[in-house]
Amino acid sequence: MECLFCSIINGEIKADKVYEDELSIGIRDINPQAPVHVLIIPKKHISTLNEITEENKKLIGHLFFVAKEIAKKEGLAERGYRTVINCNREAGQTIFHIHLHLLGGRLMGWPPG
Ligand code: AMP
Ligand code: ZN
Repeated sequence: MECLFCSIINGEIKADKVYEDELSIGIRDINPQAPVHVLIIPKKHISTLNEITEENKKLIGHLFFVAKEIAKKEGLAERGYRTVINCNREAGQTIFHIHLHLLGGRLMGWPPG
């Protein structure tokens, strides 16, 4: 099975990695939608938010913890930032390996498009 994010995690495909721990990585988005746009990706392949189970639900909390750490490092903590997980087609999910978007460095609109 081909998965872009699994290939980035195992080193077959290069990415601008800003963070790594035993459970996740953080990479800069190739097509950034804000001055800071980092994707926090679990090393375990989970295709969408719909696949979150009792066994892996703690991992989602971990992704948010990492987002907070990166936001702090990037100087966004006080200014503010947005975290997003797109699930399936209508939300615009294009890569079916779950990832948390961390966006910041500009004023965000609401509601999101
Ligand atoms: P989503 O639409 O939520 O599935 O988000 C997928 C994100 O991955 C998009 O923001 C893309 O710009 C980003 N992306 C696609 N390919 C790469 C890549 N090779 N390295 C970093 N980010 C990527
Ligand atoms: Zn994957």
